[in-house]
Amino acid sequence: MTMKLQGKVALISGAASGIGRACAQRFLADGARVLACDIHQAGLEQLLAENPAAGERLHTAVCDVTLRADAEATVAQVVSHCGRLDCLVNSAGITPRTLPPDADFEERWDAVMAVNAKGVFLMSHAALAVMRPAGRGAIVNIASILGIVGYPTSLPFSDGFTPYPHSKGAVAQMTRDMGVRFAREGIRINSVAPGFIYTPLTANVTGAPHVHAEIQRLHPMGRMGQPEEVAAVVAFLASDDASFVTGAVWSVDGGYTAQ
Ligand code: NAP
Repeated sequence: MTMKLQGKVALISGAASGIGRACAQRFLADGARVLACDIHQAGLEQLLAENPAAGERLHTAVCDVTLRADAEATVAQVVSHCGRLDCLVNSAGITPRTLPPDADFEERWDAVMAVNAKGVFLMSHAALAVMRPAGRGAIVNIASILGIVGYPTSLPFSDGFTPYPHSKGAVAQMTRDMGVRFAREGIRINSVAPGFIYTPLTANVTGAPHVHAEIQRLHPMGRMGQPEEVAAVVAFLASDDASFVTGAVWSVDGGYTAQ
């Protein structure tokens, strides 16, 4: 196997769980040095404990991506540990199901947009302050099929409004706009748009057998994806193999958005 991220320094948000965690493991396997950040200290400690061989190539930091000070401090921490920043993966994200059940529609919209959209902006803004003077860098955002198409009408829904697709549409458009804006500065900015993936984020929807079966049916491959299948595409987009790819939103969805 080629070490396609050998020598790269990567910052990965949401790295304590699911897709971000799979990205951290894939980037380590591909030779990168990784600063894994998340709001969850315990998950980060578990990641460290499970990757003893990574040694000095894996560091962790608690970071709430909704806070500008945290975003800027975490980027500063990568630069002070590793002297550079080559890749940022924005994987921190929530759905309204994470929020208290009594949160009203406005609170849910604000909370989801704060993590999924503003968090991507703040982390990217902080990373670009380092990448632009260096004249190189790659950002990969985790968008969603629900940033491309609407929420399926065949799935159960609380009140007819969910901010999740709105937030992921913002991620897809930030990707295109920033991709264009920084294309001549040696910085590539792309997204992956996963279909439904087995992670703690989807555990409650897959917990109901009829909902799980319907979600599988909605994917032409007839199944949901694994976080490692997303991480493989993220690693490609972060690598120099994707040197002519920017502003792209890559579906990793078993054919979901091709229908
Ligand atoms: P996950 O397993 O819940 O992992 C997300 C991680 O981000 C969790 O550790 C979460 O902590 C953390 N986080 C939440 N708010 C944060 C904040 N303010 N600052 C820093 N970290 C924060 O979810 P996942 O499925 O891997 O999702 C990763 C990304 O993929 C998200 O952007 C999600 O929208 C996107 N995505 C997922 C799917 C899917 O089907 N799983 C499909 C398409 C796109 P908590 O546990 O406290 O929330």
